Amino acid sequence: MKGQINVKTENIFPVIKKFLYSDHEIFLREIVSNAVDATQKLKTLSSLGDVKGDLGDVTIEVKVDKKNKTLSVIDRGIGMTQEEVEKYITQIAFSGAEEFLEKFKGKSEAEANALIGHFGLGFFSSFMVSSQVEIFTKSYKDAPAVHWTCDGDTEYTVEECDKKERGTEIVMHISEDCEDFLEEGKILELLRKYCKFMPVAIKFGREKYWEDSETEKDKDGNPKRVEKEKDRIINDTNPLWKRKPSELKEEDYNKFYRELYPMNFEDPLFHIHLNVDYPFNLTGILYFPKVKRNIDPTLEKIQLYCNQVFVTDSVEGVVPQYMMLLRGVLDSPDIPLNVSRSYLQSDQNVKKISSHISKKVADKLEEISKNEHDDFLKKWDDLKVFIEYGMLSDEKFYDRMKDVYVLKNTDGEFFTFEDYKKKIEPLQTDKNKTLIYLYARNTDEQYAYIQAAKDKGYDVLLMDGVLDSHFINMLEQKFSSARFVRIDSDVINKIIEKDEKIPSKLNEEECNKVKELIEESIDKQKFTIQTESLEESSQPITVTQNEFMRRMREMSEIGGGGMASLYGDMPESYNLVVNTNHPIIWDILHSDDTEHRKEVISQLKDLALLSQGLLKGSALDEFIKRSTKIIK
Ligand code: ADP
Repeated sequence: MKGQINVKTENIFPVIKKFLYSDHEIFLREIVSNAVDATQKLKTLSSLGDVKGDLGDVTIEVKVDKKNKTLSVIDRGIGMTQEEVEKYITQIAFSGAEEFLEKFKGKSEAEANALIGHFGLGFFSSFMVSSQVEIFTKSYKDAPAVHWTCDGDTEYTVEECDKKERGTEIVMHISEDCEDFLEEGKILELLRKYCKFMPVAIKFGREKYWEDSETEKDKDGNPKRVEKEKDRIINDTNPLWKRKPSELKEEDYNKFYRELYPMNFEDPLFHIHLNVDYPFNLTGILYFPKVKRNIDPTLEKIQLYCNQVFVTDSVEGVVPQYMMLLRGVLDSPDIPLNVSRSYLQSDQNVKKISSHISKKVADKLEEISKNEHDDFLKKWDDLKVFIEYGMLSDEKFYDRMKDVYVLKNTDGEFFTFEDYKKKIEPLQTDKNKTLIYLYARNTDEQYAYIQAAKDKGYDVLLMDGVLDSHFINMLEQKFSSARFVRIDSDVINKIIEKDEKIPSKLNEEECNKVKELIEESIDKQKFTIQTESLEESSQPITVTQNEFMRRMREMSEIGGGGMASLYGDMPESYNLVVNTNHPIIWDILHSDDTEHRKEVISQLKDLALLSQGLLKGSALDEFIKRSTKIIK
């Protein structure tokens, strides 16, 4: 029998083809998942007793016939009767196509692509790569087998055929411009991408393997290794995330991680097994990876599945931004996949799923910080970026993490916010009752400053993470009357100013004179001189960098935006803090030998720069030459 597809549009195929051009490989996912559905329906009917007897081998087969230029997907599922073919394939698919065209005139390819499944165009997508598609199908019901064919025009034929086995065979005659879909390697790649965890076994081609021979022996009398061949099954029908956590060991999770990301050789830090039935359905496993600097974000992403069918590995909108640092799989039939990202974020189910995931992640972190505290601290350096990112971007996550987060000091000791506050409160409160959190960015480079603070009984934190400047800003807003000051931003007596002052040996006039003398010997563009009355034992000259200016520059470097960018191009500038109580400064003031005085000042300044690792290039060379001369 011949039929006319009831569509107003003259020939919709060319239009659809053009629309779906960019991502036409998804046709394979659509055709194979139809086969999976048909097989699972059969299994359900069988378990209900509606289908009697043994179902036989229900493995789905994908076949390439290069000579006849066909790609076939064969299942042993429920099959279709002639009426069903007419109803489900001809009417629904084609009216879906028409509606699709109506709705998506002028939409982008990507948007159109996402809508294929939504309009029941799954089967139809086979026409993106085929000049003709045939269906051979036999229903599980007692009805004649059917052969349906359509060559990408609005005409189709249906007739009885002599197919013996229950199930459906879709034969796609691959068009000339799509012949790469006749390459075994290409099909294998697509099956592994989209069908790797589908719930019914899928075979494609044969594969070789080695086995001990039963009859042949080698010269030592051991069984000979012989090469054999078997059907290649491309999927794991019972993936780890669908199994019970109680049956699984750490090793199973790590193995699965390597299966997901074969290029990653490191084990994850830990995992979270998700399993929710109500009010939405969500399963999956999330992994905390070791955060490497050279991680390739295009290779290692969270993968999104819908009933074990791969959908996408771009989960933006489904999970909070900071969760994108995690790895693993999420599987949910409740995420509307065929809508735009902006719509996704306002979807109620997605909101619930997203906040459920955040909560689970927070639970897990809380749990290990409580129950496996030593392990937690060991992993801290790898977790820190993730936790800070989360706390910065999500208020709820901040609240959950505020007792979990640990500050680390320069001696490698860890403290919760609360414990640390208690520790430093007695000493590190300045005359304005502000609690000063001292921090260093590098324990080696800032050694002298850290030491000076420690000599006064203060504690210094190590804040060396990529997000730390943002994080510090946030903490200052959260903590009341507290300030974070980097250890080299001033001399310690000025960073934490107390009421009692050290009396200065020089009067104001003498201080100004010292300033003048020093200014004569240094580059005024780069250094600002500041005289301070410090302990006699403190360094005569110290180089410091204003906290505010430095922070602004740092923020603009990592993309702080706003005000910060104004300071982005500012040249680096330093303060030279002169200790007016130091005997050398006294000497400088009273020396008559101009040459010698200049030399001493240059030497002191260079020593100060040197202690910060700031003396470089020609300045360093000059310093070395000068020092050698002095020793002589
Ligand atoms: P969807 O799968 O979204 O319903 P499709 O266009 O992919 O849309 O398929 C339309 C219908 O055709 C399916 O719902 C199903 O009833 C029927 N169908 C498609 N493929 C098969 C198959 N391999 N076996 C049995 N029925 C099928």
